[in-house]
Amino acid sequence: MIIILKTGVSESDPEYRSLLDYLEAKPGIEVRKHQEHGTQATITELYLIGDTAALDAEEVAGEPAVERVVRVSDRYRLLGRHKGQVEATGFEYNGVRFDQDNFHLFAGLCAVDNPANTEAMMAALHRQGLHTTRMGAYKPRTSPYDFQGRGAECLPYVFELAGKYDIRVVAMEVTEPAHIEEINRALDDAGSPTGIMLQIGTRNAQNFELLTAAGSQQRFPILYKRGFGITLEESINACEYIATGGNRNIVFCLRGVKSHMGAPHRNLVDFGHVSALKRLTRMPVCVDPSHSVGSRERAPDGLLELQHTAAQGVVAGANMVLTDFHPHPEHALVDGPQALHLEELPYFAEDLAIVREAYDRRRQLAERMPRL
Ligand code: PEP
Ligand code: MN
Repeated sequence: MIIILKTGVSESDPEYRSLLDYLEAKPGIEVRKHQEHGTQATITELYLIGDTAALDAEEVAGEPAVERVVRVSDRYRLLGRHKGQVEATGFEYNGVRFDQDNFHLFAGLCAVDNPANTEAMMAALHRQGLHTTRMGAYKPRTSPYDFQGRGAECLPYVFELAGKYDIRVVAMEVTEPAHIEEINRALDDAGSPTGIMLQIGTRNAQNFELLTAAGSQQRFPILYKRGFGITLEESINACEYIATGGNRNIVFCLRGVKSHMGAPHRNLVDFGHVSALKRLTRMPVCVDPSHSVGSRERAPDGLLELQHTAAQGVVAGANMVLTDFHPHPEHALVDGPQALHLEELPYFAEDLAIVREAYDRRRQLAERMPRL
């Protein structure tokens, strides 16, 4: 059961005390407080754990501090959108807000290779007015003979250059708990010029040790990529592992699923799940057209298939797009065939702005539509 408090009720108020006294008198109930910081107000939610079936929801709702009581279904306890739970949620990190209503483009390098290419990428983002990027330092590769990423060695220049070009958030994959520590230290050593969003890759979608490690730290938010061979439900449950550790600042990323029916794309595009994710959970939703499509093929209308795919996610309300770029895709050490050129960034961004505007208009239409 979740108790949503009236806005403005604080721990020092007698109404709050009275509610806690009431709950403490009930046997076998543990109360965990959680605050959601929205754009308008901060919402305080009390999560009741234990024998909540014995509680009378109407009686709880009668307490003066209580706005509403939500019965939690068994699925997705912390991240699910439970019946009656209408409050907007999300989080702010290093001055950037992430929620189910806004939108960010994370364009950047799949794999960091050298300082010159990293700087060229950051400078292009800066010219475009973007403050978010992706930078892969630790690369999980299918073959042990392929380049595995620069690892901790590149962190100092990645962080320094991010700071130089006013990049606020860098999505960076980690493949084991030790990488979180390395990022932690390197960021401190660099004087925290930027922020990091820890990416859990599709190959680690059910690496519960890594999920738990990411969830038990509060410094960095998480970008969780859907497992390419598991159900959506299994992936959301993996996010619950992160959240039960205490960190709910999670963005859920769709990136296509493995199927021979995905061809000619690298993966079968699953962006039809954007709206389903927003209905089932309160997490912001990201789409990754690069790893879904896997190539720079151009459709007869002149747009890249990767653009068409990104548009499918954005027109359905995706809150973030993660895309591979490289100053010289032909020389990229990882995923060059799907990387866009820096010269394409302004066009890619403009295309997404067109589609996002279409989504905004679709939302206005939804407001006029009868709810039959
Ligand atoms: C990536 O984003 O670089 C990546 C490896 O993605 P995924 O885990 O979705 O394959
Ligand atoms: Mn990649």
